[in-house]
Amino acid sequence: MATIFTKIAKGEIPSYKVAENDDFYAFLDINPLVQGHTLVIPKNVEDDYIFNLDGSTYEGLWDFARKVATALKAAVPCKRVGVAVLGMEVPHTHIHLVPLNSEADMDFRKEKLALKPEEFAAIAESINKEYVKIC
Ligand code: AMP
Repeated sequence: MATIFTKIAKGEIPSYKVAENDDFYAFLDINPLVQGHTLVIPKNVEDDYIFNLDGSTYEGLWDFARKVATALKAAVPCKRVGVAVLGMEVPHTHIHLVPLNSEADMDFRKEKLALKPEEFAAIAESINKEYVKIC
């Protein structure tokens, strides 16, 4: 059965899309740690453990994540973009990209932000505009 993230990449479940190419997809985390918290996934590989990915998917995923992180940093003011790979909840490899101004921004135990749909949409659009510039 397809994972929820495969359904998102196929457009069967809505998401706030940030960037996309043939093989990879980036969208806003629905329970963000901070504004701009983004998830990056391979579209066609559902393995739930990043270190099981084949070499080309693994390298392509990180290359795409770097482009998305560059766009994210340009769109959302922050000191740097933090990276995390957890996979404790959704069994489909994904990289968290989190705009950081302090170490505490990356604390996954803290209360998540409750953003309005229009806020999610505006953030996703602003990151996508930066992504388009660098691609
Ligand atoms: P983990 O698998 O531990 O890396 O956590 C999965 C992440 O996916 C969590 O931060 C969730 O908020 C996020 N998430 C789960 N379902 C969705 C969804 N439908 N759209 C966006 N983010 C999601």
